Amino acid sequence: MNVAQVIVDVPSMSIDRLFDYRIPDKYINVIEPGMRVIVPFGPRKVMGFIVTVGENTMLASEKMKDIEEVMDLSPILTSELLQLGKWLANTTLSFKISTLQVMLPQILKAKYEKELWLLAEEDSIPEELAKLFAGRAVVTFQEIEEREISYYFIQKYMKEGLVEVRYVVKSKETKKKIRWIEGIDPILLEEAKEDIPKNAAKQQDVLHYFIEHPQPIILKQLLGKLKVSRATVNALIDRGLLKTYEKEMYRDPYEDRNFQRTHPLPLTEEQAQAIKPIWKSIVDKIHEVFLLYGVTGSGKTEIYLQSIQKVIEEGKEAIVLVPEIALTPQMVNRFKGRFGSKVAVMHSGLSAGEKYDEWRKIQRKEVQVVVGARSAIFAPFQNLGIIIIDEEHETSYKQDDSPRYHARDVAIYRGEYHNCPVILGSATPTLESFARAKKGVYTLLTLAKRMNDRDMPEVHVVDMREELHAGNRSMFSIELQEKIRERLQKKEQIVLFLNRRGYSTFVMCRDCGHTMQCPHCDISLTYHRKQELLKCHYCSYETRMPNECPECQSDSIRYFGTGTQKVEEALNQTFPEARVVRMDVDTTRRKGAHEKLLAQFGEGNADILLGTQMIAKGLDFENVTLVGVLAADSLLHIPDFRSAEKTFQLLTQVSGRAGRHELPGEVVVQSYTPDHYSVELASQYDYEGFFNYEMRTRKTFHYPPYYFLALITVSHVNHAYVVQVTQKIVKLLTNTVQDNTIILGPSASPLARIKNRYRYQCMIKYKNNTDLHDHVRHILKHFETEMQHKDLQISVDFQPYQMM
Ligand code: ADP
Ligand code: ZN
Ligand code: ZN
Repeated sequence: MNVAQVIVDVPSMSIDRLFDYRIPDKYINVIEPGMRVIVPFGPRKVMGFIVTVGENTMLASEKMKDIEEVMDLSPILTSELLQLGKWLANTTLSFKISTLQVMLPQILKAKYEKELWLLAEEDSIPEELAKLFAGRAVVTFQEIEEREISYYFIQKYMKEGLVEVRYVVKSKETKKKIRWIEGIDPILLEEAKEDIPKNAAKQQDVLHYFIEHPQPIILKQLLGKLKVSRATVNALIDRGLLKTYEKEMYRDPYEDRNFQRTHPLPLTEEQAQAIKPIWKSIVDKIHEVFLLYGVTGSGKTEIYLQSIQKVIEEGKEAIVLVPEIALTPQMVNRFKGRFGSKVAVMHSGLSAGEKYDEWRKIQRKEVQVVVGARSAIFAPFQNLGIIIIDEEHETSYKQDDSPRYHARDVAIYRGEYHNCPVILGSATPTLESFARAKKGVYTLLTLAKRMNDRDMPEVHVVDMREELHAGNRSMFSIELQEKIRERLQKKEQIVLFLNRRGYSTFVMCRDCGHTMQCPHCDISLTYHRKQELLKCHYCSYETRMPNECPECQSDSIRYFGTGTQKVEEALNQTFPEARVVRMDVDTTRRKGAHEKLLAQFGEGNADILLGTQMIAKGLDFENVTLVGVLAADSLLHIPDFRSAEKTFQLLTQVSGRAGRHELPGEVVVQSYTPDHYSVELASQYDYEGFFNYEMRTRKTFHYPPYYFLALITVSHVNHAYVVQVTQKIVKLLTNTVQDNTIILGPSASPLARIKNRYRYQCMIKYKNNTDLHDHVRHILKHFETEMQHKDLQISVDFQPYQMM
């Protein structure tokens, strides 16, 4: 067993395979799959992951190099995750190394040193260890190397729980240590009390405290509690009456909050029906994918909680994915409140060190539940009992850069591996998921009623064309202005929503609401100012920018958009008495700003919350009775075949923010195309109506779920070269793929130039065609040298969500 296959940390096509290395004697029986090592690679030394350990190699023995160093003494990737990495590399055409790196917390990619920590009591350890530690709590690995102590021996004691390896990162993100303090035997303390001068009252107090409380306490807490100084405590330490030591403490980002303990609620009839098959899948250990379709407030989260409860009772573990943006304290509280310290939380607001701490809790089996954003799907649990994806329609579950994986696919892969259920929850499922549920690929579970039968708030759609005709040129319709005024008077709160994404790329007539669409692709054309052209980014159709509207001959046809800052100014002018909180990328950039602004609004220190996407989800404020959507169209016309679906989802989400509690809510949606089906059906909360309508469009224009998509994007500083390469790709594909595959392009990407690089794309629409991956792989191979030497970039995105 002296040959290891290693994936080295060199992300390059020619190196994207396994390399054989010899395991030197000192590492035999130490090295296992899933550990990281340092190996020589050409003139360099690089990190690598051990994938297999065996005896066979095709390499001549004089050609084989030795593994230089072992980085982990226990695997940091399980065999399941190694296998998952291989699958991801194949299905997303990513480098093997990237699929393994993506599973690990950032900090493990940093430079660090290893230390060996003694966990057991010093008087109970074997002689060898006692010799090594010689009274110390920690030794560095450098010392272990120098003294030539066998790793095998260290591993053995690790397994017995006597010692532990810790990583000391050479950056600020080291582990946080806390100083603890503890009294010696209370009986001895009692005696010692007599020796302390009576006028040393503070010392007396401290002694008294430890006589009453024999358990250790954090030094800081003790000082605060007894109002004594550090010097007082030190005096007692010097007398040998108190002991002190440092202990690693996890940075728990939620440590300061008190979680209101909650208990399972008696389920409603509907909830009981929905949870039954989930419980059955858990207990019978049969993998099944459930689509939990239920309007906001129908009790989906309670179903998640009680499913997890069952999983914990079975001695297993749970992953809950929540979109980054909805991972609010309110959401976290619901899981922490039910399962307390069994829950780890992972999201991008945590520092690298905090993330690492949460990850280690999972790895050490100290928690059974993780609640997190996309990457939490790789949580290194070994005994998964359920995977839940809340708001499954959220596009943030797809990673935009390599490896371009979708968390839903990974969830299903892991669910199959662990024979456990996967729950996809949403009030507005993706068309893909709902279609699969209708076909019986997923099991559909429906919650049709809101808790307490509360109605969804009423939605008023305002026609902005008419406002214009009536002479109102403000961003706020008369109806919205009146309703805002009314709320300000009643001291109720208002949420105003403005979608900023994609503004000013599409052209619309303000008089009649007509937008310029591609006749072949059913998406909005994008305005190119320089050439005065309108272009389709799927099929390369283009036409001149018209001077007047082709529908109504008005000259009010132009591109479209306003930013939140402008809206804020307009609000201050129209409602000078209103206190406005603006939440967008600019005001929430600083860590914790997001929460602060929300708290300000939640505590009633503001009347109007104005924001982008980030306010659409998860928020739950009692006093909000009016929600306004300022420009429903800006989302409707981004150049993306999902724009109607996204509009429907967003309007539904936003509406759910009003009237969640006792006070009834109202919604005002402003639109230039009020009769568009996505606006109309969202205002009626008619998901299934929307689904049926949209499915017909998808069928006509060959989009998912009827076809799969792949997007190839080519970029380079030389425009002609980009076009030429993309043309070649289209040609190569057209020659090889099956007849029912549709190749579109070359066409300029919607973001036609980024950082001086021109971008062109080719879109592939295909049926269940497994050899497409092979064809695309061939194409990448074809351009391999040009990618390496000419700085050509070709990226491939299967099932893309980001069409820019
Ligand atoms: P969703 O996740 O579908 O938006 P929630 O689970 O948040 O719905 O439920 C909405 C509200 O109803 C919450 O305040 C929740 O505590 C409450 N709720 C959920 N299930 C029950 C139940 N069985 N009995 C009473 N209240 C419930
Ligand atoms: Zn018009
Ligand atoms: Zn087109």
